[in-house]
Amino acid sequence: MTSKKTNKITISDLEWKDGTPVSPVFDDVYFSKGSGIAETNHVFINGIDLPEALAAQSSRSACYVIGETGFGTGLNFLQTWKTYRELDPKGRLMFISFEKYPLDKEALEEAHSHLPDLASYSNQLRDQYPVAKSGYHVCSFDDGKVTLLLIYGDITLMLPTVQAKVDAWYLDGFAPAKNPDMWSDEVFAQLGRLSKVGAKLATFTAAGFVRRGLQSVGFDMRKAPGYGRKRERLLGTFSPERGDATAAHHSWPTPMKAQERSVAIIGAGFAGAFTAYALRQRGIAVTVFQGETTHTASQVPAAILAPRFMLEETALSDFLLSSYLTSSQHPALRMARIGNSSIQQYPIKENELERFKRLVAHLDLPPTLIQIKGGKLLLPSSSCYNTQKLLNFLLDDIDVIPATITDYKFKEDTNRWSLQSSSGDVPNDFSDLLLATGYETSRFHKLSPMRLRPNRGQLVTLEDTDKIIPKGTHSFGGYLSDRDPEFPNKRIAGSSFNRAPNLDTWQAVNTEDSLGIIQKLNQALDINIGESLITDTFVGMRCTTIDQLPSVGKVPNFKQWEQALRPLSQDKTFPPSETLEYQKGLYILSGLGSKGLQYAPLCAAYLAALITSEPCPVPKEITSLLCPGRFLKRDIIRRDSQ
Ligand code: SAM
Repeated sequence: MTSKKTNKITISDLEWKDGTPVSPVFDDVYFSKGSGIAETNHVFINGIDLPEALAAQSSRSACYVIGETGFGTGLNFLQTWKTYRELDPKGRLMFISFEKYPLDKEALEEAHSHLPDLASYSNQLRDQYPVAKSGYHVCSFDDGKVTLLLIYGDITLMLPTVQAKVDAWYLDGFAPAKNPDMWSDEVFAQLGRLSKVGAKLATFTAAGFVRRGLQSVGFDMRKAPGYGRKRERLLGTFSPERGDATAAHHSWPTPMKAQERSVAIIGAGFAGAFTAYALRQRGIAVTVFQGETTHTASQVPAAILAPRFMLEETALSDFLLSSYLTSSQHPALRMARIGNSSIQQYPIKENELERFKRLVAHLDLPPTLIQIKGGKLLLPSSSCYNTQKLLNFLLDDIDVIPATITDYKFKEDTNRWSLQSSSGDVPNDFSDLLLATGYETSRFHKLSPMRLRPNRGQLVTLEDTDKIIPKGTHSFGGYLSDRDPEFPNKRIAGSSFNRAPNLDTWQAVNTEDSLGIIQKLNQALDINIGESLITDTFVGMRCTTIDQLPSVGKVPNFKQWEQALRPLSQDKTFPPSETLEYQKGLYILSGLGSKGLQYAPLCAAYLAALITSEPCPVPKEITSLLCPGRFLKRDIIRRDSQ
């Protein structure tokens, strides 16, 4: 079946013919009755010599990456995971798979009921099975040792968005005669682009055009005995000197040995803590430097995950949805959730309920994630969180050093970063440095082209001994936290926004702000509480950007960008991104604004991938959207056209 390429995905039915699961779209079988697991072992797991590869892993930082064309029932993934678990290697496993016609959970359960040996793995997969939305979905198992990156969408459209280097491929996209789209030259070229030198490839088919197509992009191909009644199958090894090793081949680096990595993170707020956790999960040594500040958004006693969504189909709306889905299942947020309440979002602007309704229809997510109830938007998967518990969980077992870092320098002779603190030089140096310094990033003047902006916020603690404030987590432009069983009378309400704070006096409490919060709260919840309930006030400084998106990624070499982008005044086409240089081993995650809990977990996973060169959990379009150099480009265009 050849079809017009579209990014839309369709839930596929599962048909059963004589006990064999069949796709009605392709009229081909997912796996053979009674011998599915044996075939997976023969063709794929042994085809890529998985046991030998895993035995060679020497530490947790090693990550073996398998790419698969066609997730289907997930049998190959589950059996690969089981093999991994039984071999209990030192490193990790990452499995990337593509699927345009996902099965729903019930069909998956039905298919897996024929694979009793995989029952416990199946249960865990179904627990995290992604919603059927096109794009990237990450599931994490075995305490972060096994990751499944499930990419929903047409493989021809999705492969070019991938940034990864793969160790081995399973080609399993139905018979080539029934589904030529999965075996096209475009797909083969992408497999070459994404392969490490020496990558293995295994498939059940022996079709000549598949063999020739893979050879032409650099795979050494050979035939091997097929499974069961199939006479032959193909195996391959990526040896690019034999084929077309294009420049694009080098677009995502091959990981370096982890022993050489030690990452310093400046800042222990949401940005720093989520990234420290993500790196630790990948077996990387991390040191976090925490200054004396008590005024960051991460220090508020209770924080809310009230997501931002868009009514459109763009990279931005994809980022908003992916980041929300990532956060709502992050283990740290699950652990630090206050109470069981869902967020109730009140329509406060004119026609806002209508917008909520359109949003729910547009997002088309299960009601366990979003629904309209009682004239409000209900978000059952998110709530408010005990910030201290959250940060303790993320930073558990990580070196956190109390020190205010005042400067950092790259030492050309050792290729490492050295840090200066207010009390002198930091003794260790680091291969990589992440600036997770929020508003305080402005202290490092050399970063000014990133145009980070302060935004002052104030919130109050209310003592509600008589329980006159309705329980639950409420969002109404401001927010009100739920009753925390540990402090049952305390509620946190916030928060004000001031985009042009006085940088000398901003830390002083502002009575008008506190009154404004109470007024908003009374209006939204239709109650009448007074300022006498206020027992404490917190002032903090958010860090924002002018497009209200975080800045995440490698820090540009600003001087080189200025030069490379100068011709923009004559020719408005950007130079190819490969010509733009970045500062070696220097990264930033900042500008989370008031959406720290929505953005930080996904941004941290992206940064961890960037630092370790492991597969990127977001598509290229999203990484461009978050690029810390985006404002410099815009500034140059504007300046030059004046
Ligand atoms: N590996 C799977 C397993 O372990 O169950 C079986 C894969 S099944 C043989 C092939 C899968 O490829 C089907 O689930 C099908 O929906 C998917 N597929 C077919 N054409 C596709 C395309 N153009 N893009 C992405 N996925 C596609």
